[in-house]
Amino acid sequence: MGTPRPTDAEQAETIVDRLEAAYPDSTISLRYSNRLELLIAVILSAQCTDERVNAETKALFEKYDGPEEYAAVSQDELAEDLSSITYYNSKAEYIRTTAERIVEEHDGDVPDTMDELTELSGVGRKTANVVLQHGHDIVEGIVVDTHVQRLSRRLGLTEEERPEAIEQELMELVPEDYWQQFTHLCIDHGRATCTARNPDCGDCVLADICPSEKGDSEIDLASGEPW
Ligand code: SF4
Repeated sequence: MGTPRPTDAEQAETIVDRLEAAYPDSTISLRYSNRLELLIAVILSAQCTDERVNAETKALFEKYDGPEEYAAVSQDELAEDLSSITYYNSKAEYIRTTAERIVEEHDGDVPDTMDELTELSGVGRKTANVVLQHGHDIVEGIVVDTHVQRLSRRLGLTEEERPEAIEQELMELVPEDYWQQFTHLCIDHGRATCTARNPDCGDCVLADICPSEKGDSEIDLASGEPW
């Protein structure tokens, strides 16, 4: 078991420093070329890997251009276009109704406020945060996905379980300049080393400050269960 830094804020800063050194090019891995494509890619990425989404959106973004085209396509055709994505039927409906609303209520532009974004179908606070950060350069919060959720708990930054509650705690601890990057650093470390089932604590740059480190700790703080 590592020894966390004296305060939670120092723990957060040390985590950011170490991960930034380990993953200097960390950034969003979804591919898109405009705000609508970003929004669609993020909706599709729920419970699905970014690789799978990128593979599917290559053809999707060539076939459809602009919210009017997504709003006009039939449910069956769009679902068929997305058939390798998890929950493709629901996601096709989210995309169609979201596109309709963008055309009818936002002059064809993806909105740039949290309230307006979260009124769209299939768009929760996590998706809205990604779109604000990467589509509009507005950083209002921290994107809490499954990696951020797991690592924040393992590393002792929070005991909360719900993403919204975790986000509020992280916003108190992570320096504001790093709210956007914190997510990408956690995702990179979560994929490379601190994986859900078999984290490689022996090769982790955070091992000495991680209270879940497998060498001594018997508990994975992410799940609260024994390793
Ligand atoms: S890999 Fe192990 S030591 Fe590193 S952050 Fe994850 S649980 Fe902690």
